[in-house]
Amino acid sequence: MGAFWHFAARLLRHKAQLGAAMACAAISAGGLGAGLVALSPLLEFLLKKQSSLAEWVAANAPWVPPALTDRLPSDPFGGVVAVFVVLLAMTAFGATANFLHQFLSLTLCTRVVAEVRHDVFKHSVNLPLGTVLGRGPAEFVSRTIRDSAELQRGLVALTGKTVAQATKGAAAFAAAIWFDWRITLIALVAAPLIALPLRKFGKRIRRGVYGALRAQEDLLRVANESLQGLRAVKSASAEGTAIRRFDEASHEVLRQELRVRFAQSVSSPLVEAIAIGAVSVLALIAARQIIDGKLQFDTFVLSLGALAAAGGSLKPVAGLVNEIQAASAPAERLAELTAIAREDAGDRKRPALPPHGAGVRFESVSFRYDGASVDALRDVDLDIRHGERVAFVGPNGCGKTTLLSLLPRLFVPQRGRVLVDGHDVAAHSLRSLRTQVGVVTQDAVLIRASIADNIRFGLEDAPIEAVRDAARRAHAAGFIERLPKGYETLVAEGGTSLSGGQRQRIAIARAILRDPRILIMDEATSQVDAESEEQINSAIREFGAGRTTLVIAHRLSTVLAADRIVVMDGGHVVATGTHEELIADCGVYARIARTQLAGT
Ligand code: ADP
Repeated sequence: MGAFWHFAARLLRHKAQLGAAMACAAISAGGLGAGLVALSPLLEFLLKKQSSLAEWVAANAPWVPPALTDRLPSDPFGGVVAVFVVLLAMTAFGATANFLHQFLSLTLCTRVVAEVRHDVFKHSVNLPLGTVLGRGPAEFVSRTIRDSAELQRGLVALTGKTVAQATKGAAAFAAAIWFDWRITLIALVAAPLIALPLRKFGKRIRRGVYGALRAQEDLLRVANESLQGLRAVKSASAEGTAIRRFDEASHEVLRQELRVRFAQSVSSPLVEAIAIGAVSVLALIAARQIIDGKLQFDTFVLSLGALAAAGGSLKPVAGLVNEIQAASAPAERLAELTAIAREDAGDRKRPALPPHGAGVRFESVSFRYDGASVDALRDVDLDIRHGERVAFVGPNGCGKTTLLSLLPRLFVPQRGRVLVDGHDVAAHSLRSLRTQVGVVTQDAVLIRASIADNIRFGLEDAPIEAVRDAARRAHAAGFIERLPKGYETLVAEGGTSLSGGQRQRIAIARAILRDPRILIMDEATSQVDAESEEQINSAIREFGAGRTTLVIAHRLSTVLAADRIVVMDGGHVVATGTHEELIADCGVYARIARTQLAGT
C-alpha cells in the first residue's frame, strides 16, 4: 500500500483545494449528525414526554440563550413543524456541501493524476535506451496511460466517497454516543469482525489487479505489433496468427480480471451480514434491559437509529476500501518505473563537451546487450580524424549500428572508452554531446505533424527559413515544394505517406538543422529509388564537408566516396583501408563487395 500513499501524498501539494474539499465533507457530515440529534425532540413530543420545543431546549441544551428559547413555538405541533423546517434547511445545506466536496475532490484527483502521467512519461523518455528497448516500449505506454487511470480511480474513491461516507459514519456515531454511550460501546465490538474480511479480500484484490495490469501490457504490445506491422501481416496472410496471438493475450486479461471479481463481489454482502448479526445481538441485549426497566425505549430507538445511520454510511466503505486496494497495484508499478535511474542522472554536474575538432576514438570497447549471451562488440579499437568520411561495412549483425550508437551514448560500453578529442563521452554532459552528433537512421521516426515540424522535431523554435534551408541542403526542398501544401503538408503516422527516399531526406534535413559536428548515417538498404539515392549522396557529400561523417554503407557508391572504409565482422574491426587496398587484402570485404554492395 506504501506506493499508493506516496502518490496520494501529492494531493497535499494542492492544500487549498484539498482543505476546502475536506471542510465541505465535514460540513455535510455535521449536517447529518445534527439532523439525527434533531430527531430526539421529535420523538419526545410524539411520546408526549415534553410539551413544547422551548421546554426541550431548556432541558437538553441549556446553553441556548433564553432570548432564542422564548421565541420557539410553545405547542407540540408547532414544535414538530419547527424541527422539520430546521431538518429541511440542514438537508439542503448538507447536500450543497456534499456536492462541493465531490466536485472539488474529483477535479483535484484528475489534476494530480495528470501530473503523475506527466512525470512518468518524462521519466520514461529520459531512461537509458537499453532499458526501454529491453523491457519493450508497450510496457511504458501501458503504465503511463492505463496504470495512471487506475490510480485515479483509487484516489477518487479515497478523497470522494470514502471521506464522505466515513465522516458521515463518524457523525452518526457521535450522535449515537450522545444518545447512549453504553449501547454504542457494545456495537463497537462488531467493528473488528468487519475489518478482518476486508483486509483479507483487499490483499487478494491487490494481487489480482497486479496480474491484470501486466496482462493488459502484453495485450497492448500484441495489438500494436500486429497493427503497426499490418503491411507484413497482410502480405504473409498472417491475419489468423495475429488474431490468435491477440486472443491468447486477451484471454489472459480476462482470467486475471475474473480472479478479482470474486473478492470484489463477496466483501460487501459479507460485511452487511456481519453488521445485521451484530445489530440483532444488540437488540436482544437492549430488549432485556427495557423489560427490566433499565433502559428508556426512546433512547434505545434513537441510539439504534443513529447506529443504523452510521452503519449505512460505513457500508459502502467496504467497496471503497477495495477500490483503494486495487489502486495500490498500479501505484506500485508506477513507483517501480520512476525508481529506475534516468540516463541523465548526475548530468548537471558533468562539464560540457568542448566543440569537436580533433578526432573520435574507440578504445578497447566491448559491449553486450542486456540479456544477450554474446558480446555485440569486443575490444574494438578505432581512430577517426576530424573531418574524415568513414564508411562502415560488414555482414548483418556484425555490430556496426551498435558501435556507432556508443558515440552519442545511446548505450554505454561495459569495457573501454569512447573519446571525442580525447574527452571521455561518459564524463561529459549528454546534452553537450548529443547536440554535436547528428544521427540519420534507416527508419527515421516521422510523427503525425507537418513536414516543417518533422524537420524541426525538438527544435520547436527554429524559424521556417532555417527549416527551408536545411531541406534544401538535404536535397529535399524539391519534392516538398511540389506537395500541395508544401512544408505544411501533414505527414501520416510513421511517415507512410512518403517514399523511403523522401523519408530519409527529411531525416537528413532534421540532422542538418541541428548543425552537428559529427554526422552518423545508417544508409537505407532498400526502398530508395535511383534519383533519391543520387540526391542523398550529394546531400551527405556537401553537408559532410568539414564534419566527421560516419556512414553505415550498403552501396558501392558510398563506399567509393569515403576517405576510409572500416570492415567489421563478429563484433570486431577486421580491417581498414581504401576500396582497392581492401579488395586486395581483406577476404571479408572482397566477399561483401561482390555480394552485398549493390549499385554503383
Ligand atoms: P549491424 O548494424 O552490423 O547489422 P547491430 O549492431 O545491429 O549489427 O547488432 C549487433 C549484434 O547485437 C547482433 O547480433 C544483434 O542481434 C545484437 N543486437 C542488436 N540490438 C540488440 C538489442 N536491442 N538487444 C539485444 N541484442 C541486440
